[in-house]
Amino acid sequence: MNIKSVKGMNDIFAPVVNAWSRVEDTIKKHFRTYGYSEIRTPIVEYTSLFTRSVGEATDIVQKEMYTFLDKNQESLTLRPEGTAPVVRAVLEQNLLNSDPTQKLFYLAPMFRYERPQKGRYRQFHQYGVEVFGVQSAYMDADIIAMLRALYERLGLTNLETRICSLGCDNCRPQFRESVVKALSSKKGELCPDCQNRIEKNPLRVFDCKNESCRKISKNLPSPLDFLCSECQNHFDALRDNLVRLKTPFVVEKHLVRGLDYYNRTVFEFTTTQLGAQDAVGGGGRYDKLVGQLGGPSTPAVGYAGGTERLMLLLEEKFLATENLSVFIVAPDEAGLKEGFRMAFALRNQGVSVELDYSGKSMKAQMKRADKLQARFVIIIGQSELDRGIGVIRNMQTKDQKEVKLTDLEKEIIGSLN
Ligand code: AMP
Repeated sequence: MNIKSVKGMNDIFAPVVNAWSRVEDTIKKHFRTYGYSEIRTPIVEYTSLFTRSVGEATDIVQKEMYTFLDKNQESLTLRPEGTAPVVRAVLEQNLLNSDPTQKLFYLAPMFRYERPQKGRYRQFHQYGVEVFGVQSAYMDADIIAMLRALYERLGLTNLETRICSLGCDNCRPQFRESVVKALSSKKGELCPDCQNRIEKNPLRVFDCKNESCRKISKNLPSPLDFLCSECQNHFDALRDNLVRLKTPFVVEKHLVRGLDYYNRTVFEFTTTQLGAQDAVGGGGRYDKLVGQLGGPSTPAVGYAGGTERLMLLLEEKFLATENLSVFIVAPDEAGLKEGFRMAFALRNQGVSVELDYSGKSMKAQMKRADKLQARFVIIIGQSELDRGIGVIRNMQTKDQKEVKLTDLEKEIIGSLN
């Protein structure tokens, strides 16, 4: 039997992984500049964390989680998203006691049993931020503007920022009721899943990909028509703050994201360049979640973007081979002994060096140096050692020179700079 990678889960290797690293480094740097510190949580959590936060009636919990029993019969789940684990960690480590405002970021693999296609995988990666303890609409605008700036810094164009408000516990019930009413009158035209959703979680109809359900949801009421005065003020302040920062956005009246924990602000970045999977990332406020998971009532807002989709847009731009600085060609055992020592001396001074241990011919070693695109080759064999020299060959110009063995390391470092 041929062993293959699991469907929808990909290997990432050079040179593509180099592009990933560069993009990830830029993301981390950007988040740090905006005051976020990194958090790493386990890949596996108790299943109840996600059922209680993401929501029992969501697609993620109903259909997409990798859930299994461990040897102790505990139900565990590979994390499908990053927010609930971060909230769990913040509470477990009592971080809000030492500082009630926490700004955290993560880059991590996520797992969802979805139908794989371009831009949608079963293991994928997200970069995300979570802010705890800030109620103000300044913070919502701060996150949105920060992400917009990140995408500009990475060179993304054709990006649209969509915002909406889902209201709060005071005003959402009226919105929900009006959605239930509208859906009930169209029940026969909904897919079986959505027919069930009318009772359980009518707002999830907005996420349904079924053509007929999409047509219906386009004409459903908008949460924006039901906002109480506090939620309306919050949404107005968010818009004012975005205008103040000259951050472009559009109000999308039906933006209702696929997780249950959001309230008030929700937002999404989309692009026209990804085809069907047009969401670059999304986020929103989740002021109730910390309390729901047993913590002190704490306002919160966050965002997560998909790294694979980002790389579909950016890979070519960030693609670069990591050039090898030096290949040491040692055609005999005496040369290899000295080359071996020298390789480590250079590597420990930060120079990338490769050499061949298999005793291949000089020609074969030169060929490998070419293949690895080494900038310089050092040739050392018995005859060079006898004369106390080594040969440095510039692989671009093909110039060669003899250098005293004692000066070789200094000389090569000088040539590289
Ligand atoms: P969500 O957590 O569902 O709000 O997703 C946030 C972002 O993660 C999306 O906008 C996508 O960019 C990315 N994403 C979500 N699911 C997948 C997936 N199955 N494969 C690749 N990227 C995904």
